[in-house]
Amino acid sequence: MIVDAHGRRFRNLRISLTAACNYACTYCVPDGKRLQAAQAELSADEMGYAVRLLIEAAGIEKVRITGGEPLLSPKFDTLLPVIMQLPLDDVSITTNGQLVPRKSALIINAGVRRINVSLDTLDADRFRLIARSGDLATVLLGIEQLLAAGIKVKINMVPMRTENVDQILPMLDYCFERGIELRFIELMNMGHLKVSNQYAQDFFGMDEILERIGERHEFTRTDAPYDSTAVRYEVPDQGFFGIIANESEPFCSSCTRLRLSSNGRLYGCLSSATSYDMREVLTLPKHQALARLQRLLVLSLAEKQSVSFKGEVTVMKFIGG
Ligand code: SAM
Repeated sequence: MIVDAHGRRFRNLRISLTAACNYACTYCVPDGKRLQAAQAELSADEMGYAVRLLIEAAGIEKVRITGGEPLLSPKFDTLLPVIMQLPLDDVSITTNGQLVPRKSALIINAGVRRINVSLDTLDADRFRLIARSGDLATVLLGIEQLLAAGIKVKINMVPMRTENVDQILPMLDYCFERGIELRFIELMNMGHLKVSNQYAQDFFGMDEILERIGERHEFTRTDAPYDSTAVRYEVPDQGFFGIIANESEPFCSSCTRLRLSSNGRLYGCLSSATSYDMREVLTLPKHQALARLQRLLVLSLAEKQSVSFKGEVTVMKFIGG
């Protein structure tokens, strides 16, 4: 197993099935960049082989299927059952939820137990302003279907000062009523945000989120697993919520994530644009592939930051949020 000086190794793999997305969220992409797949994306077979190799070479225990929008990819239907059969402790999906009603039978039949749905507001007009596409009612319907099937749903919300912070309390109520854990993701300084003033204007940090929640609820901080990215809180008799505090409370020193982009590149750190191409490895038989992969994993692990997220011009949809 490859371990760095901070004792970190890769345990969690995020695979971006496609860079294409049916949304164009204001914080993720600049206008007009929707629905673009990366050039030469891996096939479902190549992705399946990549995950099998990474389980063996890196000791991957958990896989999250993300994107872009993973449910948009034609690969989703064939790859999901394949990944579900691999020797993993956990397989989960991150989706914007828009296609969940169309794919819920597939997801349920494949045996998925955990899904994160990204949702930034419960206001239908605001929803379209932020996502610049899609339909709120469809997402809410998909969430109900997943819950009815007994799937554990978490909701990811990115609070932005000028767009949706008034939604923090309504979103929390909606989640408490359904036994959903809401996770606030601090706005990350990535992609076009890095070269505009939008980040400075919209960043709404952990202290302010807690202050807003404190207007209505009492809460206490609870334990979270060692390599969890979220700081977790409990509101007695109501439920839990979390904050992914990239900026306020960075989790780099215990990060175990590795990312595989849709075009076969390995990223050891969200805060580094340096990636390593796995495509050639995928043309080799297993014993040769594993040897070659070790070197790429050492290089990828060396990309991890020791202290905090610095931000990058890379866009989340390419490397898998
Ligand atoms: N399409 C899927 C979805 O919407 O969940 C998966 C990909 S999306 C890039 C994954 C997550 O990244 C979403 O929860 C989204 O809100 C988050 N995200 C994207 N850009 C971000 C940014 N600049 N700061 C914080 N979160 C961001």
